[in-house]
Amino acid sequence: MHEPQPSAADSAPPPLDRFTASRYAQLGADFVCAVDTVPLPDPYWVGFSQRVAQDLGLDATWKSSPQWLAQLSGNHSSPESQPFASVYSGHQFGVWAGQLGDGRACSLGELDGLEVQLKGAGPTPFSRRGDGRAVLRSSIREFLCSEAMHALGVPTTRALSVTGSDAPVWREERETAAVVARVAPSFVRFGHFEHFSHGQQTAELKTLADFVIDQFYPQCRETTSAAPWASNPYAAMLAAVTQRTAEMVAHWQSVGFCHGVMNTDNMSILGLTLDYGPFQFLDAYDPTHICNHSDTQGRYAFYKQPNVAYWNLYCLGQALLPLIDEQEQAIGALETFKIHYPNALAQRMATKLGFVAAQEPQRALIESALQLLAKERVDFTIFWRRLSHWAATMDLGDALVQDLFVDRNAAQAWLEAFKRLHTQTSTDSPFSVSQRMLGVNPKYVLRNHLGELAIRAAKTKDFSVLQQLQAVLEDPFSEHPAHAAWAGFAPDWAASIEISCSS
Ligand code: AMP
Ligand code: MG
Repeated sequence: MHEPQPSAADSAPPPLDRFTASRYAQLGADFVCAVDTVPLPDPYWVGFSQRVAQDLGLDATWKSSPQWLAQLSGNHSSPESQPFASVYSGHQFGVWAGQLGDGRACSLGELDGLEVQLKGAGPTPFSRRGDGRAVLRSSIREFLCSEAMHALGVPTTRALSVTGSDAPVWREERETAAVVARVAPSFVRFGHFEHFSHGQQTAELKTLADFVIDQFYPQCRETTSAAPWASNPYAAMLAAVTQRTAEMVAHWQSVGFCHGVMNTDNMSILGLTLDYGPFQFLDAYDPTHICNHSDTQGRYAFYKQPNVAYWNLYCLGQALLPLIDEQEQAIGALETFKIHYPNALAQRMATKLGFVAAQEPQRALIESALQLLAKERVDFTIFWRRLSHWAATMDLGDALVQDLFVDRNAAQAWLEAFKRLHTQTSTDSPFSVSQRMLGVNPKYVLRNHLGELAIRAAKTKDFSVLQQLQAVLEDPFSEHPAHAAWAGFAPDWAASIEISCSS
């Protein structure tokens, strides 16, 4: 048994009274409901992030404090924090789903300006038929992936901790309960806007939009740009959210991240990856891959993510129409996706190939690489990492990359084109190209089977795998020779892991 051991120096536990009231909660009763969290019985630490703690201004002793363990597992012990759940609606799998809301999440307030939210700390007025709980397996996945994505540079909500309990929770089978403490500047979703718009609550819609603009997009009140939407702050906000969302999804595609359930209620108004459920990092590159077993139509297949993001942004635009002077402004703001997304993707992919700019020849090379990878279902992460190493010599006699392909001639021809373009366009040495590439093509991503190893061990209260995996994923571009096996191909049993919406 390896419980994460808090440091011994717990003489002066960090005070809980640092919580300040959530700015969102101050919007009032149309937006939030007070909730009483239901504590996890006999909680224990499963995992924690010292990095997130630091961002919240918590000193190194915080995790040794029983008060924090209680606080972060839903035992509401701080009078400064007033837990609340927020109401939102949304489109799920393309269909209007009506009112949803934080059914098992509640915010405790803010620490250093960041909202701290517990997921799994009991039911709320928005739980519908749900039990308000989260299970250990999905909590570990959310915790690890939040921190892994952050380390990859992908905009995301963060995770401070996971606490667990032996209390039973029923899903397809008996599981145990856990609570993730997640952290973000705001958890406002597209669905919050849809909620008030659909209910024709225009005053509340405006209050919400003004809040988001004032807190997070103040530049939208300046009409310096000549863009047709710039004269209306709400259209300008739509353009800003469109840009951030395009950049986020381009980043997902470049690291092979499949979100799995891109409903509008899971889309962050800040362009953060939000609500880690049935997500998956691709092993083999299959653009049609569907990671969510509940997604029978493949609506959220990997290659569809950019289009779905655009569709979701349209829902947001539709919701904002009552605040926008002319529909053309909203359409103009949304149309920028068609520029931002391809440019952001091309830039990311060119960087993965070691180029500084993404001109036409680089774009063609990216396209041919992806076609080759898809044709042979080559491992996505391993391809880029090997290519990064191979680039140090660009020796066509070195089979490191070719070995990944059955059609070796096609691979060889592509490598020749890669080498030619580098030679033609830059005076950088192969070594410096390789170094650049190794800094953007991770050796380690949270493959499904790696998460599974951490989960299986955690179920026996051995949290050492989770801790080691977390340490590797927090630094995914380094070699970590002791854990090289985690950078290898997914084992055959990985294909049998089924991840659904059940969590
Ligand atoms: P998700 O598919 O996880 O994004 O959840 C969709 C909606 O269902 C959200 O409003 C959640 O808060 C709610 N929900 C999911 N699971 C539960 C649960 N176990 N108890 C209460 N509400 C839940
Ligand atoms: Mg959700």
